[in-house]
Amino acid sequence: MTEPLTFALAKGRLLDETLPILSALGIEPTESLTGSRKLMFETNHPEIRLLVLRATDVPPYVERGGAHLGIAGKDTLLEYGSDMLCEPVDLKLSACRLMTAMRVGATLPSTGRVRVATKYVNVARAHFAAQGRQIDPIKLYGAMELAPVVGMSDVIVDVVDTGNTLRANGLEPRDLIAHSTARLVVSRVAMKTRHALIQPLIESLNAWVDKQHAA
Ligand code: AMP
Repeated sequence: MTEPLTFALAKGRLLDETLPILSALGIEPTESLTGSRKLMFETNHPEIRLLVLRATDVPPYVERGGAHLGIAGKDTLLEYGSDMLCEPVDLKLSACRLMTAMRVGATLPSTGRVRVATKYVNVARAHFAAQGRQIDPIKLYGAMELAPVVGMSDVIVDVVDTGNTLRANGLEPRDLIAHSTARLVVSRVAMKTRHALIQPLIESLNAWVDKQHAA
């Protein structure tokens, strides 16, 4: 028997938005994905199983064949930067903007490396390189907003939704780097080898997205 199609989902806010999509596709986990310590779940579909991963781990799992496909934010995919992944469906969920932000009224140092606090080090490096600036990256996993306030960085690169978190910490948005939404991500290999199962899922997901935006 061939291995089941393995679908990697991201924990957290994206998972809450993903479950109704799976349901719309007729894929139901056989037990609750939230509140369990398990990482792999069977579904009502004998040929499909689910993995529940950290959002940043979805691209490497899909790229390296640990999963055939997954759902990941464009922000995470830009940072991961693989040409072995394709994004056949824009799910138009979890919309946010990848931006730089600084203390209100602050300016970048005129020379030298720009100190950037972020979990998006690759994105930040490319963004500032396009402006002819090198960065001194400070890799953080949360609370980037604090770094400029305590004088640890000149700027942050983070995802922004309403901008309330920036404002609450005395920061203001500056450059828009990219818009981000959740994407279906499939490895180029699985796209070929598991086409018979993946293609109908892509079509159903595209129909689901069109229906959501038809009203
Ligand atoms: P906001 O105050 O609405 O701009 O939200 C900003 C906070 O929520 C920041 O800490 C972001 O890291 C996080 N955030 C906003 N949108 C998203 C998203 N779509 N996915 C993940 N984190 C997000």
